[in-house]
Amino acid sequence: PRATVPFPARAVIDLAAIAANVGVLKQRAGAAEVMAVVKADAYGHGLVRSAQAALAGGASWLGVAQLTEAMALRAAGVTAPVLAWLHAPGAGFAQAIEADVDLGVSATWMLDEVAAAARASGRTARVQLKADTGLGRNGAYLFPVGTDSTATDWSALVDRARALEAEEAVRVTGLFTHFAYADAPQHPTVQAQQTAFAEAVALAERAGLRPEVRHMSNSAATLTTPAAAWDMVRPGLAVYGLTPAPEVGSSADFGLVPAMTAIAEASVVKAVPAGQGVSYGHTYTTSGPANLVDVPLGYADGVPRHASGLAEVMINGRRHRIAGRVCMDQFVVDVGDQQVTAGDEVILFGPGDRGEPTAQDWAEAVGTINYEIVTRFGPRVPREYA
Ligand code: PLP
Repeated sequence: PRATVPFPARAVIDLAAIAANVGVLKQRAGAAEVMAVVKADAYGHGLVRSAQAALAGGASWLGVAQLTEAMALRAAGVTAPVLAWLHAPGAGFAQAIEADVDLGVSATWMLDEVAAAARASGRTARVQLKADTGLGRNGAYLFPVGTDSTATDWSALVDRARALEAEEAVRVTGLFTHFAYADAPQHPTVQAQQTAFAEAVALAERAGLRPEVRHMSNSAATLTTPAAAWDMVRPGLAVYGLTPAPEVGSSADFGLVPAMTAIAEASVVKAVPAGQGVSYGHTYTTSGPANLVDVPLGYADGVPRHASGLAEVMINGRRHRIAGRVCMDQFVVDVGDQQVTAGDEVILFGPGDRGEPTAQDWAEAVGTINYEIVTRFGPRVPREYA
């Protein structure tokens, strides 16, 4: 075996925070179950360990986008119910059915492929039908609201599912949809989508479907629109302690604790005179004699290049802005007269309780959302679990 060598940065994941955040969401959800969404490597936190922590915290389902993610959970020995909802033609439905993964289905072609795979393996596939109640993304289209039109994608999907249930190729275990504007709970689409989903459910149940779980709430809806909880909520971001609705409240306001702390070790530290241009294009120039600290993380690690000159880090208790352009593998911080030694910890973001920036601070500095900051962080940076 090859010797492993250290990487000069790490994302420390607080598994107890993940479990506690699920506890907060469970409380908000009342009698509804919690499906912890662990797609995209658990929003960058590490799929399997995060999933296990969420289950320990009271989640009873796991949600992913891709079948590859569902299969990775099964391969790791996770036996909890898993729903995967994003598929293209030729997806590995046979393996997923074999692995007892619930398949989110948004279109009749998808349902037909699932049924074919089920027939071939002599099993009954578990499917959950996804309605587009207004997001305009995936899901079978349900329109117009307030009518019994049978000429919609949704009613066609329901009818096909019912027929396939009769031949035991599939069993419809769930019905679900997704909000467009849950982070703005007063937005009229939030109520409109709840009404539309109620109609979608009614149509499906009139047709004879008997779903075990009906669900629509992401993190923001779980925290701000409890009336939408139905049988299950489906939070992702809040599981990791980040606020899903920064206009409504911070992580702390919602009782959540950010689980990821991103830390690098200072590489080269050097004293330079005034007037030294820093990094490509010299977009920053020292205004006086300064200590420059080279931080060994770059845009290849998910540090947005757009964070150049905008985001802050904390070194030995003091916050400094990124100086000059973020490079592929490194960026530079001007720490003025602060004494920093190679190897000192540079905290990019964390829960904020030690004065360090949070992922939300980074998102605001860079003009993006906190989801993107953690999800893109560090494909080559090791995760450490605390
Ligand atoms: N449900 C579905 C269908 C999703 O696509 C997502 C993520 O985008 C979630 C739930 C979780 O959303 P959030 O992370 O905002 O809670």
